[in-house]
Amino acid sequence: MDRRRGCFPRTRDELESLPGVGQYVANAVLAQMHGEAVPLLDGGMARALERYFGPRELADIRHDAYLQALSHRVVDHERVVEMSWALLDLGAMICKPSKPRCDSCKVKRGSCWAAELGS
Ligand code: SF4
Repeated sequence: MDRRRGCFPRTRDELESLPGVGQYVANAVLAQMHGEAVPLLDGGMARALERYFGPRELADIRHDAYLQALSHRVVDHERVVEMSWALLDLGAMICKPSKPRCDSCKVKRGSCWAAELGS
């Protein structure tokens, strides 16, 4: 029996009730299908945000209130998906896990917390 009558889940609660759907996938659906200002927060985006703004407190990015609030604020833009993609690319290609490419980083002109520390 089709409990959803052929309709794709619309809310976070409905999405996260599906097997295998967690915060990241739910956010991807909400942002890309419905334009909601929610981040595609993964380890790479978390790393870039933490280096730029300062570190989180909890190991699990899904439960760290500071990182959650920060990532939501940063992608709260009329082009929310592109903002998330930009941050994902920044974390993957420039602000790498080891040896971040700070000399090539476009956001360094601001005040990157980690770059200021020289780390
Ligand atoms: S300046 Fe360096 S540490 Fe800061 S966000 Fe850019 S690549 Fe990452």
